[in-house]
Amino acid sequence: MAHEGTAIIISPLISLMKDQVDALQAQGIAATYINSSLSASEQKTRLADIEAGRYKFVYAAPERFESGRFMAAIKQIPIALVAFDEAHCISEWGHDFRPSYRSIIPNLQQLPNIPVTTALTATATSDVIADIQTLLQIDSEHVIKTGFERDNLAFHIVKGKNKPTYVQSFLTEHPEESGIIYTATRKQADTLKDQLEKRGFSVAKYHAGLTEDERKQAQAAFIHDDKTIMIATNAFGMGIDKPDVRFIIHYAMPMTIEAYYQEAGRAGRDGDHSDCILLFSPQDVQLQKFLIEQSVLDDEKKQHEYQKLQAMINYCHTQGCLTDYILDYFHDEVSGGKNCGRCSNCRQLQERVDITEEAQMILSCVKRMDERFGISMTAKVLKGSRDNRIRQFGLTKLSTFGILSAYTEKAIAERIQFLVAERLLATRDGKYPTLQLNQYSVDVLTGKHPVFMYTAPIPEREQADYQEDLFASLRNLRRTMADEQGVPPYVLFNDATLKEISRYLPETKEAMLTIKGVGDKKYEQYGEAFLEAVQAWLKTHPDVKKPVRVTSHQPSPPKQEKQADERPSHVISYTMFQSGKSIQEIALIRDMTSQTVESHLFKAFKDGHPIAWEIFFNTDAEAAILTARHNTDEPKLKPLKEMLSDTYDYTTIKAVLVKNGFM
Ligand SMILES: [Zn+2]
Repeated sequence: MAHEGTAIIISPLISLMKDQVDALQAQGIAATYINSSLSASEQKTRLADIEAGRYKFVYAAPERFESGRFMAAIKQIPIALVAFDEAHCISEWGHDFRPSYRSIIPNLQQLPNIPVTTALTATATSDVIADIQTLLQIDSEHVIKTGFERDNLAFHIVKGKNKPTYVQSFLTEHPEESGIIYTATRKQADTLKDQLEKRGFSVAKYHAGLTEDERKQAQAAFIHDDKTIMIATNAFGMGIDKPDVRFIIHYAMPMTIEAYYQEAGRAGRDGDHSDCILLFSPQDVQLQKFLIEQSVLDDEKKQHEYQKLQAMINYCHTQGCLTDYILDYFHDEVSGGKNCGRCSNCRQLQERVDITEEAQMILSCVKRMDERFGISMTAKVLKGSRDNRIRQFGLTKLSTFGILSAYTEKAIAERIQFLVAERLLATRDGKYPTLQLNQYSVDVLTGKHPVFMYTAPIPEREQADYQEDLFASLRNLRRTMADEQGVPPYVLFNDATLKEISRYLPETKEAMLTIKGVGDKKYEQYGEAFLEAVQAWLKTHPDVKKPVRVTSHQPSPPKQEKQADERPSHVISYTMFQSGKSIQEIALIRDMTSQTVESHLFKAFKDGHPIAWEIFFNTDAEAAILTARHNTDEPKLKPLKEMLSDTYDYTTIKAVLVKNGFM
């Protein structure tokens, strides 16, 4: 910051001021905070230092501006900037507007030396900015808006998945990465924590139902890397500044894009690639509508909230670039409709699979069950489960019983959830939501509306272009040193810096100082211990070649995303088949229909790959089908199938035709 004088940062959470100040001090920047956690004499010392202009940054809570002593101190010094952290709190358009926060405005106006420049943090919408400008009488040219785009964040929307299963798969794919999972309710947070803990994940939780002590402990455990995952309601993390949060998962849709972007924005503050995943289900919409209805807002404000909710719902359904959608929402001038290339829509990570037939089977099953049951009972019937409840209700007699027995119950339930997410099937709310057909279901049943499902793979872990074991041991060293000093680990060095050390393996002080994030001050305080760790590691790895750096201040090389499997889809299925997997297994693993997998195998055969046909038919069957084909005027699949009645299924007939070059 080029301004002369002191920057005053107004921050709503006193518990985090210390961390922010520690981080600045570790970089050799004079910073302090004033809040009620300090003793009277400590406050006095700091105020004297502020008055003497010894600080570049002063952090204070809004209430502090009611203190005469504090106001007297800051009246004495040149103020470079007043910055509002979590600026939305100040505006009546903010989603968690706090009247107490707004009360600092008249106090600020009393300052003879109030600077014309105001900074606002990233989640202020145009509404909020305009509101604050009016309150403080600031011209637009004096508002610094920190840019909205965060080009290290990849947004993902995931629909129609079983949420707990998805989360577990994600965490397994991303071990030891720090992340936050936001849930909509305390109960969700409690349940999910139990589930994950049982499976051995390192989890803390944070919500308003816990005591202040429990919350403090959870937060500290997360910041100090004792727990890697935080499960929290939106009560968590106001102003949290842990830079190496690698992912944010929203377990349910938040109410507004502002809230979403603010929470998602807690990921990747160190600039490293991070994933922001929103798990969408239609029930989320009901919950948010209910919350708006129950609120004490007047009609105009309620209308405003509904509009914002609709924008959030549209985000979950857009086919366009998710980053663009968000920037557009905030009217960010920087955007301009270029696709980000990172989000789940841009990368088209999803595979489009025709599930019209399965959808019809599901819908007709719901109908046959008289629309009286929920997802899990319906899935059981389709699977052909003979559990007690199914027999008790006489559901084994239905014509749809076992009609999808080739799928697992979980895969069936996922497809039902997908139909609900796409509003092709409705749910009646209640303690046990039941499935019901709607007007769109009819279109699907009558074949007017084909159904395509997009399968969303788990975002993959960034491929390491550094020595992972060294990185792990540097992290341990950092944690030990941080614990000794009672500061969060990231205050020493952030993950990006440790990765760069593990990549370039500096052996001297000079080499160490070329690493991004290692300045003179940091080196003086912590550098040697890390240098020694690298030297020791190199002794045990004499064969490792160091990558050459082009110049000392070159930014780190672009990260290599793990290459997606670029072989054609049918070749992937074929290879799996050749390795001994059955068609059904491949269908489940690749989240496709069996028919799709079959057509992949047949395509591979036409490409010249051998197929063991005896898996599909024996010589008798082949002869019978070829005879039938010879004897029909219309050698097409359907009439052939009708001729051969129930003896052979479509797959067998197709296989014979493909093998003999008729298809
Ligand atoms: Zn995009």
